[in-house]
Amino acid sequence: MKRFENKVVVVTGGCRGIGKAIVESFLAEGAFVWAWDYKLPDENEVFIENEKYRSRVRTVQVDVSSSESVNNATQKVLDESGRIDILVNNAGITRDNLLLRMTESDWDAVINTNLKGTFLCTKAILHSMMNQRYGRIINISSIVGEIGNAGQANYSASKAGVIGFTKSLAKEVASRNILVNAIAPGYVRTSMTEKLSPEQKETFLENIPLRREAEPEDIARVALFLASDDASYITGQVINVDGGLVM
Ligand code: NDP
Repeated sequence: MKRFENKVVVVTGGCRGIGKAIVESFLAEGAFVWAWDYKLPDENEVFIENEKYRSRVRTVQVDVSSSESVNNATQKVLDESGRIDILVNNAGITRDNLLLRMTESDWDAVINTNLKGTFLCTKAILHSMMNQRYGRIINISSIVGEIGNAGQANYSASKAGVIGFTKSLAKEVASRNILVNAIAPGYVRTSMTEKLSPEQKETFLENIPLRREAEPEDIARVALFLASDDASYITGQVINVDGGLVM
């Protein structure tokens, strides 16, 4: 029997980058996966390469910063799958700028997607986890939520907020056998980091003891560990997956 057979998983921001790697990893280990995303793959785009997994994946257009959108999507999943065992709050955006140049809308967009989105998705799904007395929630934070980063005050604040949220909720729901943990990735090769200049990338790499950027799969493997029975005594933790950048 595969590790996640009979488990229903929701991954936000699941059609690209780290989220997509998490979706593919859960599929490979037997789960039924709902990929929520703002923009779904085009009709003629192959979302999941491996044909044998396609019957166990569904995509839903969701804006995680809208309670209406999140609540509708949650209802759809519960109507069709009957339960949700694992939630990965992965959707996230950046709107980088030095604080004096940061607009109110840059601030709001990042906080609303990264922090409020985590709150809305968790709140919508938590009810069914409480009733079934089982749940695993994994929030994707970032090392900049721990150490800060010039030009990312909005993003760092949102990711630090995700850490506080993770720890508070872990305390609230532990008695219902719901575990809540966060992953803090360092520098991962996705479209989010494609925007960095060659100089910024070089500076990152120089400071990473493992001397390489992470692949999305490096993060996915840790998400699956936290969702697995091997992590059944771990809650309220932040696991850095950053090649040793922060220690
Ligand atoms: P990507 O930009 O590749 O993927 C992010 C996904 O989130 C996209 O599919 C995007 O959709 C989706 N998304 C954005 N806004 C919303 C929304 N309002 N509702 C629903 N979905 C939304 O980024 P990564 O894969 O790199 O990032 C994934 C997570 O990992 C993020 O939380 C990020 O902050 C975090 N992280 C990434 C690091 C890195 O180095 N890449 C480092 C540390 C943390 P669309 O494309 O349609 O806009």
